[in-house]
Amino acid sequence: MERECSNCGKPFMPKPGPGRPRRRCEECRPPEKRRADAPPLSPPAPTNVHRLPAPSAESVARAGPVGATLERLTNAGRESTPEGEIALTLAAALAEGGHTASGLAALAKELRATLAAALEGAPVEPDLVDELKERRARRRGA
Ligand SMILES: [Zn+2]
Repeated sequence: MERECSNCGKPFMPKPGPGRPRRRCEECRPPEKRRADAPPLSPPAPTNVHRLPAPSAESVARAGPVGATLERLTNAGRESTPEGEIALTLAAALAEGGHTASGLAALAKELRATLAAALEGAPVEPDLVDELKERRARRRGA
């Protein structure tokens, strides 16, 4: 059935198919395609986000989970074992942040397990043993 354009009054044939029947002719209301003479879509203006300077690799390695993990591995002489490497990688991922709570928990759990495996059988730091002995002695004396 022919319809009349609500804009220019020209009769036109609405296309059959789903959707609302068009009320204007194709000249007044071009289909949803972009016209060739239309100005190009401008990219979104860059938002001026203030970015914090990225921490240097050195400071990341010294502080946080990576530093603590590396220290324990180094003290046990296990920093270059496969388990040690995995533990360090996990620690780095942990330090990177941006995890969901469950992701963080999974990472921490995995790091603990890997670190335990890496340190398995390693001699305990003598100063730690001394400290424990001292504490025990203090407790007995009290
Ligand atoms: Zn029209």
